Amino acid sequence: MTSTSFDAIVIGGGIAGAGTAHALAARGQSVLVCESQPHLAAKASGNARGLLMPYVATQSSPPGRLYSRGFRYTRELLHSLGPRCPFYHQSGAIQLPSNKRLVRILHESAPFCDGIVTQRISAEEASERSGIPISTPCFYLPEAGYCDPRELTANLIGSAQLPVTVRYSVEVTALTATENSWRVSLGTGEDLTSSTVILCGAYEVTRLSQTSWIPLEAIRGQTAQSFATPLSEKLKTLISFGGYITPADDGSHFIGAHYRHNDMNETPTEGDTAEVISRLYAALPSISGLTPNSSRVCFRASTHDRLPYIGELPSHDKPPLFINAGHGSRGLITAPMGGEIIARMIHKEKLEDLAESASIASAERIEKRRPRVHL
Ligand SMILES: Cc1cc2nc3c(=O)[nH]c(=O)nc-3n(C[C@H](O)[C@H](O)[C@H](O)COP(=O)(O)OP(=O)(O)OC[C@H]3O[C@@H](n4cnc5c(N)ncnc54)[C@H](O)[C@@H]3O)c2cc1C
Repeated sequence: MTSTSFDAIVIGGGIAGAGTAHALAARGQSVLVCESQPHLAAKASGNARGLLMPYVATQSSPPGRLYSRGFRYTRELLHSLGPRCPFYHQSGAIQLPSNKRLVRILHESAPFCDGIVTQRISAEEASERSGIPISTPCFYLPEAGYCDPRELTANLIGSAQLPVTVRYSVEVTALTATENSWRVSLGTGEDLTSSTVILCGAYEVTRLSQTSWIPLEAIRGQTAQSFATPLSEKLKTLISFGGYITPADDGSHFIGAHYRHNDMNETPTEGDTAEVISRLYAALPSISGLTPNSSRVCFRASTHDRLPYIGELPSHDKPPLFINAGHGSRGLITAPMGGEIIARMIHKEKLEDLAESASIASAERIEKRRPRVHL
């Protein structure tokens, strides 16, 4: 008979849900992950490639420190998964000065990445390092790289015989607080119970009544895969230019991504693929003649201040409700760390090296955005 009681129920089977389930199960908790789609990483975490890139700035700042800490956390996690997560490439990254902020840093001050090596390099050195002609000075981040987010998600859930159960094609439709626990109602009509629930459903967290008020916006992103040309095949590093291109694997590059508000069209369009490719050509004129072979649409979950919501949601007398969501465009480096922060909180462990990140991304800051109800 299937168990209906778990130490923790995680809602959502993307990177945030997988990272949270992994961190809890590693502490011996029985964890159920409910995923509304028929497989893991079906939405934002389902791209074939994702960048592990910290944030280039001029000085230390809370978001910069959050991203750098998350970057190191995911890197360590990937290494700890070892041969079970083979798809991780520390290719190094070339960051082109693609906006006014980066141009200013390039010309006026030293790049700063909170302990992660960031160098200003000449166009010649960039061309040598990347393997393709680059005509402008830019930044080089030798520790950056890219991975397959689907592999990362699957390996976090499936690693080392941890006590994680996944239910697929099951939507959580309602949460009801009882004295010491949550009743978790599923679209199938079943009810489950757990003292601990963690919301990892990205922007869809707002479908549950308790959290419908949380400021989360879905921002459409379309990516493209494209056959390499003899020149583009020489690309050795990933290049970030506002969008990004990865070195070719099996003859194809992964190219991302457009960024559009107020557009929930789930179907890729030829026009958007053309836009993604033409932005690449504008940034890297030495690349041309790519032939797109597939496209994909998914949605970022963006918060009111662009930082994720990680931790216990402010509530009054209910069982605690946790959230690991709103990871925007940098979920590969913030969501796994978010899972570890939540596991430490639930287990009343010291946050130690993650204390500052927990404070920067604290879900308590959403309280100020809660609509006031006047009786
Ligand atoms: C085009 C694009 C490119 C990106 N590129 C990068 C990149 O290069 N580097 C990087 O770091 N980040 C990147 N990101 C961001 C990153 O992909 C996301 O931040 C990350 O995948 C978010 O993971 P998540 O688990 O929070 O959300 P998701 O992967 O969307 O997972 C949420 C899951 O919850 C499920 N769910 C929701 N509600 C329920 C419910 N009620 N019941 C059951 N299941 C539910 C959904 O079906 C979904 O599978 C990119 C995002 C986009 C859109």
